[in-house]
Amino acid sequence: MTSNDLTKIYEKIDGYRGSMVELQTGLTAIPALGPTNEGEGEGKKAAYIKEWMEREIGFDSIEQHDADDDRVPSGKRPNLVAIFKGESSDRRIWIMAHLDIVPPGELSLWDSDPYAVVEKDGKIFGRGVEDNQHGMVTPLFALKAMKELGIKPAYDVGVVLVADEETGSEYGIQHLLEKQDLFGKEDLIIVPDAGAPDGSMIEVAEKSIFWLKIETKGKQCHASTPEQGVNAHRAAAHLITKLDKLYEIYDRRDEVFDPPISTFEPTKKENNVPNINTIPGDDVFYLDMRVLPGISLDDVDAQIRKIADGVEREFGVTVAATSPQKETAAPATPSDAPVVKSLAAAIKSVYGIEARPMGIGGGTVAAFFRRAGAHAVVWSKIEDMAHQPNEYTLIENMAGDAKVFAHLFLSG
Ligand SMILES: [Zn+2]
Repeated sequence: MTSNDLTKIYEKIDGYRGSMVELQTGLTAIPALGPTNEGEGEGKKAAYIKEWMEREIGFDSIEQHDADDDRVPSGKRPNLVAIFKGESSDRRIWIMAHLDIVPPGELSLWDSDPYAVVEKDGKIFGRGVEDNQHGMVTPLFALKAMKELGIKPAYDVGVVLVADEETGSEYGIQHLLEKQDLFGKEDLIIVPDAGAPDGSMIEVAEKSIFWLKIETKGKQCHASTPEQGVNAHRAAAHLITKLDKLYEIYDRRDEVFDPPISTFEPTKKENNVPNINTIPGDDVFYLDMRVLPGISLDDVDAQIRKIADGVEREFGVTVAATSPQKETAAPATPSDAPVVKSLAAAIKSVYGIEARPMGIGGGTVAAFFRRAGAHAVVWSKIEDMAHQPNEYTLIENMAGDAKVFAHLFLSG
């Protein structure tokens, strides 16, 4: 890559701001909601962007891999895989974004129509403009610039646009990973679907997620004669405080994560008795646990059981736990993986900052790649407006992120 090439590409991208807003406007006008969000899927949006990609860039190939889903009118959930040939096909640089959006939610909280893009003060507003159209538009305009200038990427670049990211990924990336052999172990995979407002976060790892519903049973009676019953609420309250011990048992730190520890938090509490003068015979609360990779969730489960056994004996109650979610973390992408280094160098060149590999507490689609043995990172420079009313993204960040991708495509 020559710095002259880069300068030319950056200039081109700077001239695309209006076209970026235009593409965002077109995409936002086609709500792509999954059937669990009472939508008809991503078919129309996929057709729109596919036509745009053919017309404005002209990829070497664009394949569509549909997943059957009889809950949507078309019976299909679309997944697009577009390849833009580079100097070498030894490995590929992949950017994956998702076509679907979440519903706008309460409309009165929006200052404008969520499906009609409004531009104001360098921002564009609309449902989906950040999550995940920002991540769709940015690699596409990087490639458009390279195509128009006749500059080839170092390696083949693949743009993958998937369905169903917001509601489980079964008809999206999971379908692709099962049916297609696309992603190699040497490939660089970037998922621009989360990030920090200063662009410094390269997400490489996530914690395991473990939720528990804990039901404590005692014996209901009149509150004036507590000795005739067994107060399940008191026992559960003791159990909650005893569970703080989990923080001591699992005190390992990993500074890649923020916070750098496993967390064990009591969260939701179900109603018990409706009146004050009854001793509750039942109590239900929930735990949300985010556990550092490498710690066995079965082991955590066994520790909780031991603590619960103690409460059963002490208070004469029974404690039963069921798990609404138990998802062991995917292996982390190493902090020194080529994708991390190349991306950090590109970020430094464009934004002048040192980005750093980080772990987060929640799951992302990058985990599917990591489980399949590929090194994937999540990165973009966004304001973190996903799923909120008045969702917006900065036009400046669309241009900047397109430059970061161009740098990455050129350097490999
Ligand atoms: Zn998203």
